[in-house]
Amino acid sequence: MKCGLCLPLCPTYAQTRNEADSPRGRISLVQGWLSGDLEMSARLTAHLDGCLTCRACERGCPSLVAFGRIMDGAKTRRIAESRPERRLLHRIWISALSDPRLNATLGRLAKIYARSPLASLARWLRLDRLATLGPLLRLSGAIAATAEPARPRPLGQADMDLFIGCSGETAQGHVIASTLELCERLGVRVNLPARHACCGAMLHHNGLPEEAKAHRDAVARGRAERPLVGISSACVAELKESPELADTQEICEYLDRLQWPESLQLRPLRARVLVHEPCSHRNLLGGNAAVHRLLARIPELDVEPMPENHRCCGAAGTYLLQQPEMSERLLADKLESALAAAPDIMVTTNSGCALHLLAGVQEAGRAVEVCHPVELLARQLPS
Ligand code: SF4
Ligand code: SF4
Repeated sequence: MKCGLCLPLCPTYAQTRNEADSPRGRISLVQGWLSGDLEMSARLTAHLDGCLTCRACERGCPSLVAFGRIMDGAKTRRIAESRPERRLLHRIWISALSDPRLNATLGRLAKIYARSPLASLARWLRLDRLATLGPLLRLSGAIAATAEPARPRPLGQADMDLFIGCSGETAQGHVIASTLELCERLGVRVNLPARHACCGAMLHHNGLPEEAKAHRDAVARGRAERPLVGISSACVAELKESPELADTQEICEYLDRLQWPESLQLRPLRARVLVHEPCSHRNLLGGNAAVHRLLARIPELDVEPMPENHRCCGAAGTYLLQQPEMSERLLADKLESALAAAPDIMVTTNSGCALHLLAGVQEAGRAVEVCHPVELLARQLPS
């Protein structure tokens, strides 16, 4: 089937209007490569790597083409067939990004860097435009604002296990503390172990599915007979790939299902909030209606979906580091319409999107807060 109904849903096709940057085009390229009609060239690689694996195309496909699996499978084969030294470097790089301790160190370094004269010097020298270092430097300001070490709370007798993932402390440090605070007020005992696990998403979508599965298996082996709840929607979607973890819940979904005590009335907040819906939440977890229901508990809060929610913001896991140009183009479009709506706050349930949006807001010089919905709920708890 090559009907093309997926084309209008594809963010990269909308940017380039090139069939090779569309879902249908990419499938044809993979078919051509697998049948031997096409060589794997730099040009072919660029079109395939340009895919966000946002899976928006799957939602519009009448033939239920498993596009994400096709792209992940093609990437796995490309990595397996690449030169050994290149494969090794790739594995080291993606494994480093998936390492909780390295991520926590990155968070600490970002805080030091952001406060040092080096940050101004790097901006002055336009080092953020360098292909290798630029994307990390660009995110450093956002990471400096979000990184916060988690205070472990290992509990044998708990109501749920909190999964913060490899980058939770770096990208969602404040979300962890807010989750613990809110859960405590709701009477939920949270187990937060000292050692954090990784869901394997970055490995999975970078052609290393076995390594990704090893991470998920480790999570499955370590889980207890109680709900496993994740604070980042992409991690939750990834964990659900394993049958043993298919019941993993996203934190807003979990909180929305709880019976809130009548006496717990959140304090009013006069602010305009735009709710960003990450692709992982929209396309893989069935949407973020729970976020809207939870925010409706805050009196006077003006809550709207973010304009262009159906389009990926360009973060897409490691995409913002690997494809900075397209990533920033997508973000620029997204922010243009979002900032035109004059929000005070933007909320998102995914760590990568939060960093990407915050970096964009900082670059635009706008005083708009970017946070997780749970942070907003915890802040409005009565004293
Ligand atoms: S996964 Fe997203 S970026 Fe990739 S082809 Fe589908 S819609 Fe386009
Ligand atoms: S992937 Fe689905 S929607 Fe896209 S061209 Fe093929 S059949 Fe049509």
